[in-house]
Amino acid sequence: MQAYADTSTVGHFIDGKATPGQGAQTREVFNPALGTVARHVRLATEQDVNDAVSAARRAFPKWADTPPIRRSRILFKFLELMNAHRDTLAAIITAEHGKVFSDAQGEVARGIDIIEFACGAPQLLKGDYTDQVSTGIDNWTLRQPLGVVAGVTPFNFPCMVPCWMFPVALAAGNTFVLKPSERDPSAAVFMADLLRQAGLPDGVFNVVQGDKLAVDTLIAHPDVMALSFVGSTPIAQSIYERGAQFGKRVQALGGAKNHLVVMPDANVDQAVDALIGAAYGSAGERCMAISVAVLVGDIGDEIVSRVARRARELVVKDGMQADAEMGPVVTREALQRIEGYIGIGVEEGARLVVDGRGYRVPGREEGFFTGATLFDHVRPEMRIYQEEIFGPVLACVRVPDLSSAIDLINDHAFGNGVSCYTSDGGAAREFGRRIQVGMVGINVPIPVPMAWHGFGGWKKSLFGDMHAYGEEGIRFYTKQKSIMQRWSPSIEKGAEFAMPTAK
Ligand code: NAD
Repeated sequence: MQAYADTSTVGHFIDGKATPGQGAQTREVFNPALGTVARHVRLATEQDVNDAVSAARRAFPKWADTPPIRRSRILFKFLELMNAHRDTLAAIITAEHGKVFSDAQGEVARGIDIIEFACGAPQLLKGDYTDQVSTGIDNWTLRQPLGVVAGVTPFNFPCMVPCWMFPVALAAGNTFVLKPSERDPSAAVFMADLLRQAGLPDGVFNVVQGDKLAVDTLIAHPDVMALSFVGSTPIAQSIYERGAQFGKRVQALGGAKNHLVVMPDANVDQAVDALIGAAYGSAGERCMAISVAVLVGDIGDEIVSRVARRARELVVKDGMQADAEMGPVVTREALQRIEGYIGIGVEEGARLVVDGRGYRVPGREEGFFTGATLFDHVRPEMRIYQEEIFGPVLACVRVPDLSSAIDLINDHAFGNGVSCYTSDGGAAREFGRRIQVGMVGINVPIPVPMAWHGFGGWKKSLFGDMHAYGEEGIRFYTKQKSIMQRWSPSIEKGAEFAMPTAK
């Protein structure tokens, strides 16, 4: 695998071209494994955002009028290019995010799944038709694109999360402005260039790099019809509220605290593997990471001792090294936040079984590394239970039975993903039906739905009523129109003052 070592300043992509934009302000982008500045990213001014929205607005009428099958052909070409460049993209992700290369490859693959789904959009854009809704009258519904739509995405999936949005939005006939995370900005412009190579007309897809100013400008812009956001809960909530003030359609996916329940009859080997991969994979920086193990009945001691052994043996190193199981976290601030929470957990009285603080990787002494951390006997009132740490910290909570496990999870503020390990079909069924969480895994640790099912949590993990991608994505990026038509002589009948009914 070839490491990504571009040292230039990452700019915007507006109206079919890479551009540095108007502003001079930049921010540092780090290589988290080295702990050094790898490159810089431009921060968009209001003018840059306005330029991107204007380009998207100009491109919209023609793109919306392009037959869906022709839009799909361009997306098919993009799909081929994404497949051809998947390892380059994965190396870009590892270089800026830090996750191990194989995990970055997995992220790209899951993004590609959504592009494949979007290629089939003509089928999903078909409307409904009723012949003879009344005598001589037919009625049909169709779905039309919204116009310019925007996406604001987090650092933890710089390829996959944008792909939850723009392929579906473009397939439906919208034009798009993406504002990726300023911490790992390169994947977005790389994909923008592949779309250009695929033949996407100028202005249909644009990228503005930036921070709060760029996001605020997009929300307030009168030509932006809808906004998809993925990131932390406080920002998701404020974007949802501000979007509503401006009368925009908004879906805002927020943070998480995902539980994995281990029932006494679970396959212990599978449960331990699930906990290790789901808690420490991508250094816990996944919105579907498992951060709480709910250990039911007398299985707790065995699970804790086996997870502890595996956590101590985890291979933590530069994500570009082939045997790495966990890479660094994204920034020094993230490292300090995560290790700060470990200190809080100790003060709160949880039992620190494995302490990942102060982890050093030889040859990468300045990298943003922390080891795997495991707490036992965590209680619901503790901050390390209630708050999203977003790092490789697993908290074990002990409960007596399934019902207490379900009540515990249902009382939590977040409701993104959840998992239950059991060999009892009845318990699994009860769990699936009663749990107040959007995405549920039974003997599956990270139940991220496939492209055609749609992704979304409940409670403070999603503001809005539609999930990302899948058929919900098509609905989010289109509006329904109903057309009723009559071409019969009865049109001559004259004015009617009663409510029309079927005749
Ligand atoms: P973040 O909320 O800090 O940033 C997300 C995006 O919002 C970025 O593009 C950022 O530039 C922008 N932003 C930051 N501050 C802003 C502000 N004050 N006003 C407007 N925009 C602002 O999130 P992050 O640290 O990049 O990502 C991690 C978070 O995302 C975690 O909470 C994680 O759970 C969540 N996440 C959720 C999902 C999901 O599907 N529910 C998926 C991935 C990540």
